[in-house]
Amino acid sequence: MAHKKTNLPETICLQCQRPFAWRKKWLRCWEEVKYCSERCKGEAKRLAKAERKSAVGSNKPPANACAAGQVEDEF
Ligand SMILES: [Zn+2]
Repeated sequence: MAHKKTNLPETICLQCQRPFAWRKKWLRCWEEVKYCSERCKGEAKRLAKAERKSAVGSNKPPANACAAGQVEDEF
């Protein structure tokens, strides 16, 4: 039997618009992962904050706790 190549799901980073592949640390929260890195996440957060100043009324819940780079210690 041939060695099968791992076929990991991919998603597009909402911040930099680049595709990135699934990682084990996102096992339990893949559906919530929207950014490829802490940097993009931080950038998006910063932009959202700036946007919120002008757009009053959008009351978003806080970002999930298991996004990029925060769950390494659980494996
Ligand atoms: Zn990104």
